[in-house]
Amino acid sequence: MNQHPNSPLNPHRRHALVPGAGRRLLLAGCLALGLTLLGGLLAGNLAGDLAPGVAHAQDEGGYVVQPGDTLAQIAAQFGITVEELAAANGLEDVNLIRVGQRLIIPGQETSLPQVAALPGDTLPRIGSRYQVSPTQLAALNGLAVAQRLFPGQPIRLPETARPIQRLSFGAVLDVALPDHLVQGHTGELVVTTSRPLSLTGVWNGLPLALAPLDDPLRQFAHLPAPALLGPGRFELALSYTARDGRTVTRTFPVEVVEGEYIRQEINLPPGKGGLLDAEKIRAELERLQAIWGQSDTPIQWREPFTRPIGSQYPTTSPYGTRRSYNGGPYNTYHAGQDFAAPKGVTVTAPGDGIVVLAEPLFVRGNAVILDHGRGVFTGYWHLSKLLVEAGQAVKVGQPLGLVGTTGLSTGDHLHWELRIYGVSVDPMQFLDEPLFPPPPEELAVTQ
Ligand SMILES: [Zn+2]
Repeated sequence: MNQHPNSPLNPHRRHALVPGAGRRLLLAGCLALGLTLLGGLLAGNLAGDLAPGVAHAQDEGGYVVQPGDTLAQIAAQFGITVEELAAANGLEDVNLIRVGQRLIIPGQETSLPQVAALPGDTLPRIGSRYQVSPTQLAALNGLAVAQRLFPGQPIRLPETARPIQRLSFGAVLDVALPDHLVQGHTGELVVTTSRPLSLTGVWNGLPLALAPLDDPLRQFAHLPAPALLGPGRFELALSYTARDGRTVTRTFPVEVVEGEYIRQEINLPPGKGGLLDAEKIRAELERLQAIWGQSDTPIQWREPFTRPIGSQYPTTSPYGTRRSYNGGPYNTYHAGQDFAAPKGVTVTAPGDGIVVLAEPLFVRGNAVILDHGRGVFTGYWHLSKLLVEAGQAVKVGQPLGLVGTTGLSTGDHLHWELRIYGVSVDPMQFLDEPLFPPPPEELAVTQ
């Protein structure tokens, strides 16, 4: 009943951490990257027209809290645990229930509203459409958070479920955006317009590559939440030029909530700092930002990624790990996912892409960057050998290079990084989710 350890909300938990293994190499491998301070999932609704309405919610069922009740008493009365009761009702504090509140009793037949799962749906996706936590949905339906759903599968919702805010203004008929974003995760923004529009989207100062995917009246952009942003409310601004030349702008608040990231304290031996040549680090990053800051190239890949390295090679340091150097504050983070693997293991493309960089770098060693289109780039650092050249198109599964420990790294490992509009986000999210929403034909076929 409790949150499944494989929750897509916590992708870093999906991969066993090897205690001790590679700790030093990681720290070296990603040391400088951690200093690049940057400067998701909930997926939003990508098919508004397909979204089923919430079935009529009735008031019967469940249990209405009476004066003097405690959660423990209520749980005992129905033969369930406090934890089950709290999970089914999304209660964060078991001491906070109020008289008159209607509680859902797990296992009891109630007339809760329910919706049918869409093709490709997951509990986090449904949760984001109806502003319910995936954990609560899982508890309510007796499912694991990460469980695959079949199209049409009935999913019960709590009475508190509300469809996400859908807003219109001028020629913009509908704005579908996530209720909230998790630090380091990527959400989806879908804007439906009454006529083809040149729309501009800016998310917390970051320009979005907002453009149609398949339908000229339906525009899509990723909403990457930087790993160290917030928590708090940040602004998404949409604007277009009206026929009379006026600029029409609307802003929407998007809540960024804290990600559950582990902390790692790194003690640099004296003298190690000498490797961190600030000017070289800065110059390298500046060059890479010019590459992964582009967002006007064609989409190369829409499906979920495949792992860039065999599954026998475990994660040693997940994306987002908070880092403190020599006892300082936890104000840096790990911008990619590290996998421990011996020298010479093949690293492969997780999806189709264009090689936009394949060369030795000071910090990142022998590096490959793939452009998957529309502002989405993946990076592979510290390779012992490069097997591709810049300008080359690669297919999913194609070898890119071999694991090594070049650049600022003291042990063999692969650092895998995902950049969306230049923001480093959790690459593991897209092992489960399509990189871009599937074309409508595919939706039709699976229905
Ligand atoms: Zn790394």
